[in-house]
Amino acid sequence: MAKLTVSDLDVKGKKVLMRVDFNVPIKDGVIGNDNRIVAALPTIKYVIEHGGKAILLSHLGRIKSEDDKPGLSMRPVAERLSNLLNKPVTFVPTTEGPQLEDAINKMNDGDVLVMENTRYEDVKNGEQVKRESKNDPALGKYWASLGDLFINDAFGTAHRQHASNVGIASNMPQTAAGFLMEKEIKFIGGAVSNPAHPFVAILGGAKVSDKIGVIDNLLGKADKVIIGGGMTYTFYAAKGMKIGNSLVEKDKIDLAKQIMDKAGDKLVLPVDSVVAEKFDNDAAHKTVDGDIPDGYMALDIGPKSVAEFEDVLKSAKLVVWNGPMGVFEMSNYAEGTLEIGKYLGTLSDATTIVGGGDSTAAVQQLGVGDKLTHISTGGGASLEYLEGKTLPGIAAISEK
Ligand code: AMP
Repeated sequence: MAKLTVSDLDVKGKKVLMRVDFNVPIKDGVIGNDNRIVAALPTIKYVIEHGGKAILLSHLGRIKSEDDKPGLSMRPVAERLSNLLNKPVTFVPTTEGPQLEDAINKMNDGDVLVMENTRYEDVKNGEQVKRESKNDPALGKYWASLGDLFINDAFGTAHRQHASNVGIASNMPQTAAGFLMEKEIKFIGGAVSNPAHPFVAILGGAKVSDKIGVIDNLLGKADKVIIGGGMTYTFYAAKGMKIGNSLVEKDKIDLAKQIMDKAGDKLVLPVDSVVAEKFDNDAAHKTVDGDIPDGYMALDIGPKSVAEFEDVLKSAKLVVWNGPMGVFEMSNYAEGTLEIGKYLGTLSDATTIVGGGDSTAAVQQLGVGDKLTHISTGGGASLEYLEGKTLPGIAAISEK
């Protein structure tokens, strides 16, 4: 069944509570990168252009003590939002009480209000009570009482059961997905629940242990699972190959063997690697086939692997990519990730999805993102979604 979305709602004259993801990098009150605020604009604009009153809630960072609060106030975010919308935005420096309620009651249709960081509720009078993060039932109920409708557009926290997503939703007659959330459900949810074929998954990154749930779930759904990045070498060790000083999770070698037995020829491993003497961009490096020589560590896939992976990818109708092919942060080991990203951009008949976290950072840093179908905004959330788990934040959104 399809989820209710913002365009299904009649927001005119309504107080619309909106959980957005404004968890931007911030230092000394200065916002480092406002991508997440920009990403929330379509849903906010839709609500205000249709005569709703937009009441925005988001968390920002982690609050463990009173000392954390001043540096993680939502005030600069509200100011940036006001600039981006080119209209006044009311900031309320609290998360509950008469000041907040009065400000909401004074709103006109089309107004925007941002309340203080929802995680301020995690610390009360110096005590870590985690009312937001542990979904205190009274808090969700209280926040729900402030509005008529609820829109959840914060995919990044959808894997968490917090008061500001699940708590509010469970006290509202209807909860709708915002446009961002709708896209994540369509693309990441769709890849897991109803994938087009041939479906190829590309899984990279540092550790098998982080990705085991995803590998397991996608092996059951994909036609091929390509492995790259640091976790390759745990698989190499499981095959009895030499790995030199490459990254390895010794306690996961047996697991890697089991995965390979189960997967058969579905699993595709790199055939060559860029190896270096040290974990350093300027270290002496070279490309080798197969085994990693003593004294070297593998830091990227090599050109033969790129060619083989492209061959597997060329007929794909759906590609899900999570995790870089190498240490893309260092220019000498970024080639494998860059080439795969560029190649995905040429697959005009395929839906190409990047599954969040470091892979999102990689495609953005390497400038290959705009040719892909969907780049997820969630790290942990997209991993858990790809593992096939039910995300509580999404489960709490009403069906159409
Ligand atoms: P993850 O968060 O699991 O997706 O892992 C991303 C990190 O894995 C990035 O910081 C990469 O630098 C790192 N990585 C990728 N390939 C390798 C490799 N061959 N050796 C060590 N680290 C790697």
